[in-house]
Formats: sequence, structure tokens, C-alpha cells
Amino acid sequence: MEKLSILNVGGHPKDLIQYAGGTLAKHVARGDKVCMLTPATGMTLHTKALDSFRDKGVDPDMKSLIDDRKKELIDASEELGINDVRFLGYSDDVPVVDKRIVNDIADVIGEVQPNIIITHWPYDSSPAHAVATQMTFLAIEAASSMRPGKPYAPTGGVTGEMPQIFYHATAGRTNVIESLAIRIPTTIIDISDVIKKKTRAMNKFKSQIHSKGDTRKVLSALDGNIHSVHARIPYAETFVAHNPEVYEFLPLSEYGRKLASRSRTELHESMSFMLMDE
Ligand SMILES: [Zn+2]
Repeated sequence: MEKLSILNVGGHPKDLIQYAGGTLAKHVARGDKVCMLTPATGMTLHTKALDSFRDKGVDPDMKSLIDDRKKELIDASEELGINDVRFLGYSDDVPVVDKRIVNDIADVIGEVQPNIIITHWPYDSSPAHAVATQMTFLAIEAASSMRPGKPYAPTGGVTGEMPQIFYHATAGRTNVIESLAIRIPTTIIDISDVIKKKTRAMNKFKSQIHSKGDTRKVLSALDGNIHSVHARIPYAETFVAHNPEVYEFLPLSEYGRKLASRSRTELHESMSFMLMDE
């Protein structure tokens, strides 16, 4: 099988692992090429630094904090076997569409020529997420146009032979914006066999681990979200495909073929198994 090139774009560094880390660990193990890209420093979510700033009121050393965030992402990606990490380092205090960032993302698209791009649901109510998706869209368009002096040929554009995009379909927040544009997954990836790897990767984000341990609770909820329960698998990452896939015949996955022959016990165990049981 021809190897895939996958570009994963996240509004914050941690998003790259949180929403798709398990899926990417599997692709890398299969020999596919994976590139991680985050436009922002993620400083708005350096919760440890924010807490300390609130408590002490002393301006932090921003450079060293940004270096921390970068290293966390590199270390987390390494846990998954991914060593191509692009940390563009733009400020994310006011996340807006910025032409410089769009051009930088376009350069990465031109270089890695992705078959698949993973990014946030376009109607995500976190501004940094929605803006990252918008900029990715614009970057796909930019990479497909004539850009003299660039060391790569134009790629497929958004109205032409664009790469497939998979948006995260993890059950989002419960506010009205997200409730009106609900994410209905088209694609569920069973990440049960790599959940330990993903957990180790997530634990690299020390800047975001609260003393109360709520990060763990959030992650358990996301990885065992309602879609994986309904799919009768312990852990899943869920996506919405931008374009319908084209097949020769109606597709039925191996999972779908085997589902009916699984025992009741096996099905129930898959639904109730959680990481904290171990
Ligand atoms: Zn985020």
C-alpha cells in the first residue's frame, strides 16, 4: 500500500495529541508520514504559569515558558513515534486569521504534500480552534496557487483536488454555538491498542496538569466518549470527513463484518472498560 502523508494542525499544542494522537500513533507504526503543526505558542493555556501569575502578579519569563510548551509537544510527539513537529510560535492571546501564518502553513502543505489533513471542527467555539481551521483552509488554497520562488509545485486547492480533511468530532462543549452545528462523526478510529502510548504522550504536557487532576478526567471522557460506547470499543478518536469518500462498492469495514459475531460479554466489556480500572 502506498504510504500516506498526514498533516495534523492544532490551534493549541496539546490539541495535536488530544484529538488525534492515538490515530497518528497507528499511522506512524504502519509507516505513514506524519507532520504535527501548531501555529501558536499555546501560552493562553499555560495554566501553571497563569495560576502563578494570578497568585504572585510577577511578569513571567515568556521565552522560557514558550520553550517549555515547545519541548512538551516535541516530547509528546516522540512518545507516538513522530519527529516532524512544526511549532510556528505565533502569539495566541488574540487568535485571528493572520496572512503570515496562512503563508507558513501553506509552505508546510507544499513541502509535505499531505493526502490527509486533520484539524478542528470549523464550528468549534474555542476561537483558537476555529481560526486554526480557517487558516488551514486558506493555506490549502494558497498552496494550490502560483507562488513563485517556492521549492514545490502547487497542490490541490479547496475547489479542486484538495486533500481529504478530517475534522475532530469529539463531542464538544454544550454551548449554543456547538449545539447548533453538531459534530456527527463519519469515521471512528479504534485507539484501544495505543491508549497507553497516548496517555504517556498527554502526560508530557506538564504545564497544563492541574493539581486537582481535572485534565485526566477530561481526557478519560474524551477518549471514552459516547461514540466509542455506541461503537462497542473501549477507546476511540472520532472524525468528520470533509469530502465523502469514493468507493467501487458500498464499504463495510472489517470491524463492521465482525461486530455481529462478537459475544455479549466481549461487547459489554468493551463498553465498560476504562483506563482507571487498571
Ligand atoms: Zn485547544
